[in-house]
Amino acid sequence: MATLMPTYARLPVTFTHGEGVYLYDSKGERYLDAIAGIGVNCLGHAHPAVTSTITAQAGKLIHTSNLYHIETQELLADKLAEVSGMDACLFGNSGAEANEAAIKLARLYGHQRDIKKPTIIVLEKAFHGRTLATLTATGNRKIQAGFEPLVPGFIRAPLNDIDALKQIAKSNPDVVAILMEPIQGEGGIREADAEYLRAVRELCDQKSWLMMLDEVQTGNGRTGTYFAYQGVPVTPDVVTTAKGLGNGVPIGVCLARGGAAQVFSSGQHGSTYGGNPLACATALTVVNTITEQKLCANAQAMGQIIRDTLLEQLSAQGGLDKLVEIRGRGLMLGIELNEDCPGLVEQALAKKVLINVTAGNTIRLLPPLIINETQARSLGCTVADLICQ
Ligand SMILES: *Cc1c(COP(=O)(O)O)cnc(C)c1O
Repeated sequence: MATLMPTYARLPVTFTHGEGVYLYDSKGERYLDAIAGIGVNCLGHAHPAVTSTITAQAGKLIHTSNLYHIETQELLADKLAEVSGMDACLFGNSGAEANEAAIKLARLYGHQRDIKKPTIIVLEKAFHGRTLATLTATGNRKIQAGFEPLVPGFIRAPLNDIDALKQIAKSNPDVVAILMEPIQGEGGIREADAEYLRAVRELCDQKSWLMMLDEVQTGNGRTGTYFAYQGVPVTPDVVTTAKGLGNGVPIGVCLARGGAAQVFSSGQHGSTYGGNPLACATALTVVNTITEQKLCANAQAMGQIIRDTLLEQLSAQGGLDKLVEIRGRGLMLGIELNEDCPGLVEQALAKKVLINVTAGNTIRLLPPLIINETQARSLGCTVADLICQ
């Protein structure tokens, strides 16, 4: 531990292996994993299809670089285009990199339209990553503090306030795009309303702005549709995703449609690892498994069971007054309490359940999409017990 830079306050537990929705620690204790590596392990741990894909691909080819054609990358791009309705993919290795690609795409799009200082609208409480441009786009001073000077070319607006965007449109001719999460994850599971998303689409059409959705956390079945925008529905110009896509093997992608898919040309962006054979073979198995096993529908159904059980149990234990509201969709749930709950993550750990708290008072649940009814009920009960204790 002594040789790690202290960027994380870690919980006192080390996991040695997992299976499905469960993780096992070095003492052999079993935990229900309701955070899934921060929304990453959408197929749970040690999923047989993922394990056999990684094993087989590692035995053939891990990396060749983008100097050559990569078959698994092309197959994955076709599959992602099919599930997203987008036209083209650009691969990287993380969510922040996918968003960097989107930011670069928007700037390039601006310059191609003769806008010298292209500006991107981003929202309050947003989270887009930890690189310099993505932490600038993030609406949280704690994440930015100490890393100034920030990157120019961003303007901030409140979530779900279309008039604020119209105001910006009037006074700022340099705007080229808006970048936003359909449901803010780190910001406390805050949903963009369907009307707002449709109004953003309309404004983007009027102003020739790119509508860019950060689906790094909401994508890959998490919210009950493959991408959250499909549940509205609304069609963005650019979508980024990562987290669940590789089930733990690092991969990120920036997808684009129409004119936005033709902005980059040869040499304008790159990544040594991005879209390598191992990551793409794994992600292809993940996407195929999500669609074939109907895990989007399962996310919807199991999310409802967790909500219902939680409300039932809170009401039975007289704890409803501690609840402000339950937000989110599918298996991306935010349970806001009426006060901060600093010890709750440790208390859950003692009860052998892994959860997370964002924004001080909001329990965040991101269990694997393969969670079953019994496990979903058990999770709802434990969370209710934690709130009531
Ligand atoms: C996690 C997250 C990111 C950053 O992803 P990394 O893989 O950690 O770089 C960006 N946007 C959203 C919405 C996220 O939840």
